[in-house]
Amino acid sequence: MNRAMACAASALICASCDGRSPEPLASSPEGPASAAVQAGWPVHGGTTSEQRFSPLAQINKDTIADLKPAWFVELDTNRGQEATPIVVDGVLYTSTAWSKVYAVNAKTGERVWYYDPKVPGIAGYKACCDVNSRGLAVAGGKVFLATLDGRLIALDQKTGTPLWSTVTVDQTQSYTITGAPRVIKSKVLIGNSGAELGVRGYVSAYDMESGELAWRFYSVPGDPAKGPDGAASDDAIEKLARPTWFGSKYYQYGGGGTPWDAIVYDEELDQVYVGTGNGSPWSRRQRSEGKGDNLFLSTVLALNPDTGAYIWHYQESPGESWDYTSVQPMMLVDLTIAGTPRKALLHAPKNGFFYVLDRHTGKVISANNFVPVNWATSVDVATGRPAITANAFYDDGAFFATPTGSGAHNWSPWSFSPRTGLVYFQAQETYLRYDDLPDWKYVPGGYNLGQDRRPEVVRDDAKRLPPAKFYVLAWDPVENKERFRVDARGGGVLATAGDLVFQGRGVIDGELVAIDAATGQQVWSYPMPNAAAAAPISYSVDGEQYIAINTGARATGNLQGIADAQARARQVGRLVAFKLGGTATLPPPPGPAPPPNPPNEVFADDVVRAGELLYADYCGRCHGNATRSINVIPDLRRSPALTNKELWHSIVIDGALTDLGMIGWNHLIEPTQAESIRAYVGRQAVVLRDELAAAPAMPAAPTAE
Ligand code: CA
Repeated sequence: MNRAMACAASALICASCDGRSPEPLASSPEGPASAAVQAGWPVHGGTTSEQRFSPLAQINKDTIADLKPAWFVELDTNRGQEATPIVVDGVLYTSTAWSKVYAVNAKTGERVWYYDPKVPGIAGYKACCDVNSRGLAVAGGKVFLATLDGRLIALDQKTGTPLWSTVTVDQTQSYTITGAPRVIKSKVLIGNSGAELGVRGYVSAYDMESGELAWRFYSVPGDPAKGPDGAASDDAIEKLARPTWFGSKYYQYGGGGTPWDAIVYDEELDQVYVGTGNGSPWSRRQRSEGKGDNLFLSTVLALNPDTGAYIWHYQESPGESWDYTSVQPMMLVDLTIAGTPRKALLHAPKNGFFYVLDRHTGKVISANNFVPVNWATSVDVATGRPAITANAFYDDGAFFATPTGSGAHNWSPWSFSPRTGLVYFQAQETYLRYDDLPDWKYVPGGYNLGQDRRPEVVRDDAKRLPPAKFYVLAWDPVENKERFRVDARGGGVLATAGDLVFQGRGVIDGELVAIDAATGQQVWSYPMPNAAAAAPISYSVDGEQYIAINTGARATGNLQGIADAQARARQVGRLVAFKLGGTATLPPPPGPAPPPNPPNEVFADDVVRAGELLYADYCGRCHGNATRSINVIPDLRRSPALTNKELWHSIVIDGALTDLGMIGWNHLIEPTQAESIRAYVGRQAVVLRDELAAAPAMPAAPTAE
């Protein structure tokens, strides 16, 4: 038995052969079945229960000062990177933006194979929040990839050669997929996204050998005139869900409920848990006559993995009207609560409550808020229902909610350490106005929030609402309360048996940070050229422990809390691996973003104003509110096309950059309107130029040593 195999055989052997034994665990976090795979990171959540805990301890408080980059891989895209890699038998597999797949040697970073599914650019337009992919599944000699445009593809694990491919969505609608597939027994499960654009969500299971559809479960009811779907959800939809919806708008508008992230298999109870998304459009008034719970929006569903049959559900945000998706990561943990052993499902979704559910029944064991929450005061443990506050549904005018659709906790992977008994995750406090847009009209295939986001409203809110706060919480799931917090604006986290919690941080450039799992004290950090939103993983090859993380853009969005002067030139993402004594040198962050490029023309105020309204309707969701892009999706104030009317029109109207996700808008925008948008962005470029002239220069890039 070589050293790696010895490490694989037992976490404790691995730790001791590396010269340091962790304190013995009270009990194995996963049971004996997982011991053979502990040297790798074989599934999305580390293990089937998705606790994302690494039993490796070579990297610990005593050794971490020597943790350095071992290797890195430059990815071929500068878009958002959110994937958790998988490591099996010394090979690391990861998806990247645009659903590309890299298989590399986990010890050296050398490429084994690469696969590009050639996602069409229009899928980028359909994605609410950039062209992300959060991961893969590897099983049975195959790598399973779900692509942004809705395909599920099986690749040969050794070569990357496609074995089968199936389309899981109606590609004429605004479906996308960003989530990682999960292999459960002989099936591959995958959900979808698109609730902001008006689709009907569902989760599907495909035979892992043939790619044939085995079952499908819809999260919201469809058009009753079309009859049953012939799906696993038919009974539950008609008996449980449909009575909670009213009118006819919901099925005309899609209804939402898209399950775009968490799918977790419970090996002990043989059931699968699926988290569902928000309503479409956001306001219940616009889709369900302002009444009803609207099942199964914002819900944890328990299903039979073989048939998709309904077992139980728990709806976290009844009548969901705030983009409070319940798709956030779930983990399965056995806890002793008030002296009683409980099979718990832990969930901290966007709505700000930390739920401990009983996996047998879906009943609430406890639910406490982990950030300030004003849409509900509490959750009744007996009934599971939140006490929703007056006007939370904005029936009587605007409601300024916290948390928001950005999520008190969003998709960021979280982690549980059985050594501290704590759950670690990135949380945030944000505020948003919720109000119906007067005279809102549904646009098929368009961005259908139905919310009042007129520029003057957004400007006014920016003055009125408190600034956002970001922190990592260490949460005790038994007491359901906070133990400590660390100010941090980062992404996914990883807890290890070295009693460390790793997290990538940053918005433009970034760092990898380790904190003490018991106290939160920072014990190490290392600068990286890219920010990191994805989760770190850990694995061992030839007796050496690695920490690997995908780094790159933090998806789309604007410069909330970030000065324009800090924006940097666009850069490719990087997959970075660290080990003790690593000798790779990361490149420095790129220089400042290109300068503003205001046209010399003078535009009339009314044209600029018309452009501002159009920009808010069509451009801002990718290029940033009020043109304040973080330069992942190009900052239009700095665009070479801004001073070239013909080039601008060829892009905005004719779709010259469709392959990059920038569609032509001739179905919605007239050429004169495109010119108005150019006038508005041009005016904003002048403002930026003047601001930068007055602002101090960007500080020098931090260096590693
Ligand atoms: Ca959403």
